[in-house]
Parts: sequence; C-alpha cells; structure tokens
Amino acid sequence: MPASPAWQSLECKVERTPAPLRCLQGYPAETLAQVEQLLQQDRVADWLLKKYPQAHAVRTDRALFDYVQAMKGEYLRGTEPLAKVAFDAKLQVVQHALGTHTTIARVQGNKLKAKREIRVASLFKNAPDDFLRMIAVHELAHLKERAHDKAFYQLCNYMEPCYHQLEFEVRVYLTHLEAAGARLWA
Ligand SMILES: [Zn+2]
Repeated sequence: MPASPAWQSLECKVERTPAPLRCLQGYPAETLAQVEQLLQQDRVADWLLKKYPQAHAVRTDRALFDYVQAMKGEYLRGTEPLAKVAFDAKLQVVQHALGTHTTIARVQGNKLKAKREIRVASLFKNAPDDFLRMIAVHELAHLKERAHDKAFYQLCNYMEPCYHQLEFEVRVYLTHLEAAGARLWA
C-alpha cells in the first residue's frame, strides 16, 4: 500500500554582500579589499569578464542533467538517483537563490525510496562553467549532507577544491546584479 509522498525541499542561497565579504575564509585579504573597491567603483563586470571570458555550453535541461549526472558518477557513486535536473526561472536572483534540492520519499512495498530533484536558477544558464559547476557541486552535496554545516562544505571542497572561492565570486556577481548591473555572459 503506497504511503503519501513526503516532500523536503531546500532552497540554497549565498549570503548577502558586502557585510560578510571580510568574513570569507580562505580568501586573501588583499583580494577582498580589491573586490570591495571594484564594487564601489562599479567595475565588477570588467573584473568578472576578464577572469571568466567564456560562458559554458550547457544550453538545455537535458544537457544540464548529463552535466550533473557525470559529476555524480565521478564523486558520489551509490547515492540515490536523480529523477530530474533543470534550470528554473522562478528562483529569484534578488533573494540570492542559486538552486534547490528536493527529496520526494515514497514507501514502495517494505522499502523507502527517495527521488531527488535538482533545480538551478536559470540566471546560470548564461554563466562561466566554474559558476555552474559550483552550483552543481552544492546541490549534489545535499545527496549526502542535508544541512549547510561543516561536513557539507567539506564534501563540496572534495568535489571542487576552489568551492569557497567560486561561491564568493558568484556572490560578487549577484551583488553586481542587485546593484542594477547588467547581466554578463548573455
Ligand atoms: Zn544548499
């Protein structure tokens, strides 16, 4: 007899700038100061485009599924299968939302089966590969670690050694957009 499905959805965000800028671990103080100055002088777009001149080539939900699935196969073999991976236009950039990870649990016979869905804010359809990878790593890490705690970030760093740096740069980009800056890589 099938039980009613249980839903658990996580919305993943980055913290707001500029206040937490100085608190970011593992990022050189001089770089933080430089970025603060860029934000003040409205030169973030130049900085980001110089560092990341190219956008990734993942154009469709199908391609995004394959992209995330390949990373799962490399780092998280044996975890629950992904039922769906998609870009989502409803995830709001103004709230600094990156993506969501949803678990749908269902009892089948005497077993509990879980389906996982990952959504990536559609803003990141036009972004450097490093930014998309950071979000994929984040949402994949929730397959094993539900909370945004130390174990979670250790797993993120295992999959992407520059995870914190990339999350920081994504944060800088979102702050640029929030200040009515133009969308880059579009
Ligand atoms: Zn998260």
